[in-house]
Amino acid sequence: MLSPSPVYALKDRSPLTLQADNEPGNLLIEQPPHDCPLCPRLVDYRHANQQSHPDWFNGPVPSLGDRNASILIVGMAPGVKGANRTGRPFTGDHAGVLLYETLTRFHLATGTYDARPDDGMQLHGCRVVNAVRCVPPANLPQPIEVRTCNRFLTAELKALPKLRAVLALGVLAHAAVLRACGIPQTRIRFRHGEVTELPDGLLLANSYHVSRYNTNTGLLTREMFEQVVFNLIQRVAAE
Ligand code: SF4
Repeated sequence: MLSPSPVYALKDRSPLTLQADNEPGNLLIEQPPHDCPLCPRLVDYRHANQQSHPDWFNGPVPSLGDRNASILIVGMAPGVKGANRTGRPFTGDHAGVLLYETLTRFHLATGTYDARPDDGMQLHGCRVVNAVRCVPPANLPQPIEVRTCNRFLTAELKALPKLRAVLALGVLAHAAVLRACGIPQTRIRFRHGEVTELPDGLLLANSYHVSRYNTNTGLLTREMFEQVVFNLIQRVAAE
């Protein structure tokens, strides 16, 4: 049985690179506009969802969490009835349950995740973002869309002053993080549970994605995911 750990105070990593001012607060992180035009296929899908579900968020889902985060969790892309509907990463569909319950267990979140952006849950010391900000058809972004949206992930990585570790959920997120860090895709393979120190000292951890498919098939169990998060917290705290 894993023991919950306290939130850790972590040392600074690198100077800030501020790129745009479209979020409140004293740290500026480039975020795509709600009508970001850069991926034509995803724009078409966004417009179709806006027509059929005008009450949904239907836009690039902004990152969630602490700007002084030491851990950044990177998912793949919003689910159409999840984050695309609610406007908060991993919120509204199955994937958020395991993610946020685990973060709460290890004191990286407080409150109760209730699949609503107004459920009052708050992240502490961590931040959550997707490699691709817009919902893709069939839940599968194309490689060019991952590359195009990578500028926003790069901006996140550069703008978090206390970032020490990234937890990539799945192969696509792993590859997107490497790209954002300027590291060749073949240099570091995705392996569940592995933690690699990148050349600039950032830790890159891998976990299978917390998707319903992976949990239903047993590829990822709650215990496996808790172990990954627990191990990463310990590594970060030991630095
Ligand atoms: S996926 Fe990213 S780059 Fe592409 S349209 Fe959405 S926000 Fe813009």
